[in-house]
Amino acid sequence: MVSSLAALRGPAVTLVDDPFAQASRACLQYHEDALVLIEDGTIRAFGPYAELRDTVPDGITPEHFPGHLLAPGFIDTHVHYPQLQMIGAFGAQLLEWLDTYTFPAEMSFADAAHAERVAKLFLRELLRAGTTTAMVYCTVHPHSVEAFFAESERFNTRMIAGKVLMDRNAPSPLLDTAQRGHDESLALIERWHGRGRQLYCVTPRFAPTSTDAQLEAAAALLKSRDGLFLQTHLCENPGEVEWVRELFPARSSYLDVYAHAGLVRPRSMFGHAVHMHEHDFCTCHQTGAGLAHCPTSNLFLGSGLFKLFEATDPRRPVKVGLGTDVGAGTSLSQLQTLNEAYKVAALAGHKLDAVQGFYLATLGSARALGFDDRLGRLAPGHEADICVLDPHATPLMAFRAGYCASIEELLFMLMTLGDDRAVRATYVAGQRVYDRDRAGDPFHLPDAA
Ligand SMILES: [Zn+2]
Repeated sequence: MVSSLAALRGPAVTLVDDPFAQASRACLQYHEDALVLIEDGTIRAFGPYAELRDTVPDGITPEHFPGHLLAPGFIDTHVHYPQLQMIGAFGAQLLEWLDTYTFPAEMSFADAAHAERVAKLFLRELLRAGTTTAMVYCTVHPHSVEAFFAESERFNTRMIAGKVLMDRNAPSPLLDTAQRGHDESLALIERWHGRGRQLYCVTPRFAPTSTDAQLEAAAALLKSRDGLFLQTHLCENPGEVEWVRELFPARSSYLDVYAHAGLVRPRSMFGHAVHMHEHDFCTCHQTGAGLAHCPTSNLFLGSGLFKLFEATDPRRPVKVGLGTDVGAGTSLSQLQTLNEAYKVAALAGHKLDAVQGFYLATLGSARALGFDDRLGRLAPGHEADICVLDPHATPLMAFRAGYCASIEELLFMLMTLGDDRAVRATYVAGQRVYDRDRAGDPFHLPDAA
């Protein structure tokens, strides 16, 4: 087989370690003029262009992005693709929001053609935002998962997704049973988990919509194959926390409901975790479970303020990733999500610096997913999922960039003013699948592997 080679050149930035555990400056790698050499979808070399130029094989001309920033593709650790049609819906907190907007939207996914339409749009909007990996909730309908993975496979994106499990406290068209949810999930696992770059995530929506029997079935599913993920919601809203206390009176906390069922483990990702006690953070630290910080959603629904700097306390650090939580979140852009994460931290008296911010959106999310050996960095051996950021995307950004005296200032400007307009191009496994400036359709399905 002939290997496929590609090379990118330009200013480049990547995280190399955890800036919540050590000085930010030591965690950021920046090259003013870098080369990324890619072979068969994997980064083979990354470093200063002057040092690596001679390694570029004859016949390969690096795609050059002067004035831009090459960066690892963003990772979104919590998002609902069926909720695109209700993003920005007015006036409700979590439980009323589910009844008024979420469940009706998800019921429309009984129509497989609708699921396919939305999956196509969703994948493209992620790529437009520079996001190359996401952990995604589908609906209770198995064909919603089918539609999502099929579209992801076309783009060859590394995606993690699963069928929502709900066997109580939701409209009957959206309910499965513990047994049916198990069997449908298992069939999807057998069909999709590890096929190409697709990975399966066991997905009980949250404790109030699953019986003990269903949570136990979810734990059994996690044992069915190696490398499966789990996603669910945790401690998002005070009314929800109180409801869980009523539904599970024997459990010591909301997280204990999941721990008791055997669901708190590495590769488990709990969305929100706004109303957590120290004991819960300790449990996450000890088990290696991750938390998805979803600031635009928490602000939009009035859920509360995630305690980022408590969660990441170096004395017992919890792995934290960044999530958009669309449709309660208000943007698929991780730059805009960081804009709000900064403000949420500021309200608690902390300063989220740009290095910490970009860590959350890339390497930190990869670590929370247990995937940092191949995602979230520009480094040899990592999968070549790369976004090209444009610090001059708008007249205001271009003007402001002229006053940035350091790479940290430029990154902070990007995470404050940037959004999908600041993503010039997105590469998936070394192939350019999105080009903002391409005339006509900016999306391009990769050549068949
Ligand atoms: Zn959610």
